[in-house]
Amino acid sequence: EKELINKIAFITGGSSGIGRATAQLLAQRGANVFMVDIDECGGEETISLITAEGGTAVFHKADITKEFEIQRSIEKCINEYGRIDSAINNAGICIGSKTAKYSEEDFDRVIQVNLKGTWLCMKHEIIFMKKQGYGSIVNTSSIAGLVGLKHHAAYVASKHGIIGLTKTAAVEYASNGIRINAVCPGTIKTSWVGENTRSLDRLHPMGRIGQPVEIAEAICWLSSDKSSFMTGQSLVIDGGRIAG
Ligand code: NAD
Repeated sequence: EKELINKIAFITGGSSGIGRATAQLLAQRGANVFMVDIDECGGEETISLITAEGGTAVFHKADITKEFEIQRSIEKCINEYGRIDSAINNAGICIGSKTAKYSEEDFDRVIQVNLKGTWLCMKHEIIFMKKQGYGSIVNTSSIAGLVGLKHHAAYVASKHGIIGLTKTAAVEYASNGIRINAVCPGTIKTSWVGENTRSLDRLHPMGRIGQPVEIAEAICWLSSDKSSFMTGQSLVIDGGRIAG
């Protein structure tokens, strides 16, 4: 079903993993995709995958921690496509360590990319969407945005922060026609997990970790008009991991 036909989707972190799967699914559903990432090679690969399937996508290299780069990306997207119907703030990093073992440098980096980077993207997407009078934003949080996760103190803090930003902006801009939601994936098979996933599989009541496309489906739905009365929510997609 081409429920996103002629929609313009702006997505960060489209060069691999969940972002790539989402960019592909958005294009399959009919959207024109504008991708932002620091990884140029991965971005070109995503573009090839999308164009091979007959979809439309553009890649722009930008670092989400740099405000002027994000501003420029959004301007480029608008110059290229004229508007932004959906924005997906998905780029993120994970540096694992226990609370008392994080170096200040690692802690700062995780907060910088995941929390500040997501906020900077939201800021400039909202500035534009307010003028436009509508829009949908989906942020990639994590189950680590809702529960603690051993050895991931800064990551957990950053993902909890993304949920706070999502709820706050949702109530601030609901009257401007902008919906803002988050997705909270359990462990997903991306470059972050190794080949042997048995110990991770066991953490999920369904007995397996998730696939990127299973998150992409939820993001596409939240991006589309099908979720038109939903805002400020965090949708958990985790095979039951934090349910019980
Ligand atoms: P990934 O490493 O495959 O993809 C992340 C992408 O973000 C990469 O292409 C990377 O180049 C890009 N990126 C990193 N820093 C950037 C920056 N400063 N500016 C622009 N782009 C940058 O990882 P993934 O697993 O697909 O993760 C995507 C999102 O999903 C992240 O926010 C992550 O926290 C979240 N998540 C992942 C899992 C999982 O198990 N893989 C679980 C829950 C949430």
